[in-house]
Amino acid sequence: MTEEKLDTNSFRFFGLGGSNEVGRSCHILQYKGKTVMLDAGVHPAHQGIASLPFYDEFDLSQVEVLLISHFHLDHAASLPYVMQRTNFQGRVFMTHPTKAIYRWLLSDFVKVTNIGNDNAGGVSDENLYTDEDLAESFDRIETVDYHSTIDVNGIKFTAYHAGHVLGAAMFQVEIAGLRILFTGDYSRELDRHLNSAEIPTLPSDILIVESTFGTATHEPRTSKEKKLTQLIHTTVSKGGRVLLPVFALGRAQEIMLILDEYWSQHAEQLGNGQVPIFYASNLARKCMSVFQTYVNMMNDKIRKKFRDSQTNPFIFKNISYLKNLDEFQDFGPSVMLASPGMLQNGLSRDLLEKWCPDEKNLVLITGYSVEGTMAKFLMLEPETIPSINNSDVSIPRRCQVEEISFAAHVDFRENLEFVEKIGAPNIILVHGESNPMGRLKSALLSNFSSLKGTEDEVRVYNPRNCVAVDLEFKGVKIAK
Ligand SMILES: [Zn+2]
Repeated sequence: MTEEKLDTNSFRFFGLGGSNEVGRSCHILQYKGKTVMLDAGVHPAHQGIASLPFYDEFDLSQVEVLLISHFHLDHAASLPYVMQRTNFQGRVFMTHPTKAIYRWLLSDFVKVTNIGNDNAGGVSDENLYTDEDLAESFDRIETVDYHSTIDVNGIKFTAYHAGHVLGAAMFQVEIAGLRILFTGDYSRELDRHLNSAEIPTLPSDILIVESTFGTATHEPRTSKEKKLTQLIHTTVSKGGRVLLPVFALGRAQEIMLILDEYWSQHAEQLGNGQVPIFYASNLARKCMSVFQTYVNMMNDKIRKKFRDSQTNPFIFKNISYLKNLDEFQDFGPSVMLASPGMLQNGLSRDLLEKWCPDEKNLVLITGYSVEGTMAKFLMLEPETIPSINNSDVSIPRRCQVEEISFAAHVDFRENLEFVEKIGAPNIILVHGESNPMGRLKSALLSNFSSLKGTEDEVRVYNPRNCVAVDLEFKGVKIAK
């Protein structure tokens, strides 16, 4: 062990989670005696300790800097655990909007996990952390502005826009002249409210990039939006209810921008409460205020709309908020955006069980569904689904199930174009199930095959969790 560690020209990548899988993202970088950790997520298909990255496999007291790319649970939800329940002593950084949303999101996560445990009758794992842990960890998280470089004992890092969700960042880390770019989750397509991912001005030696969609191609945005609005319009015209399981924050706001505009354009048939749209989340109001606050960090399109109309684009005319289902009168057609996005539990799961026996209704999946979750299972169109409160009870599933992805991850073409522009000779793939990741690796290798054997050869790695990737940089890098 010491032998390997003492070779200071060797760069080591070590995945504690999110390698050959989607979920519990956490990656360790080591170079010249410095240690950086990237992200600290949970796995949405598991609960309690089982949902954590493999923290036991690494001495977290070595970590000097921990960077969180964005607020999604698979990237941030184990952070309070790391900060309060392990020997981690480093500094933690994230962007301002990420921190603002993180607070509410994780306090909801604590609540939802607690409820889950109660229902299980005390047989499930202990809670990962409490509200108090969350509050204490919150004060110790430092924020970074986009494009400004921070130096912590020789570890320099800079946040760049990543698209994907509000506050999401790619981090370029520099240690003794070696530059590593970590994309986190990113998108390149210009959407209604976010800046798309940028190319950093300085080149990178190592690129750590997501591979969610592997070699798949996305439908163009305009046709996706059209399909979404038409499918929903058709369903409600027949008297059906539409359930859109969404992650409370992030992509849900993009869908709301689309629906609010469409409802205004079809006010005669849909407006004035004829077909109400609800955003059901106990976080709804708090979260919308964060979006209303950070319009200045969004793209030119939405800022222009804000300026021209003098009204905040996140104050929706046709959407009302529901904190829970007690206040919901379920009469006639309606459209419901409800969290969580993978129907694991909570509001969206309750509505699924209520609405899925009726064939008029529609469940429309717009996010990425992780293996092992109800959302993924539902896309197989099962005859029945198990009830969350009693798994011996099966509920008939007759509703229509459709998927239109607004997940805001790059597709193959966008990913390849970005990878080429970065031009890094070493590429480490993360955040993808084994098959799509393997296909992406092959496609990248064949794309760069003409460089094979030359000094510009591009190497692509798809390590599993807890398998190190060691790269030699034979003293080429000189400390500044
Ligand atoms: Zn994400």
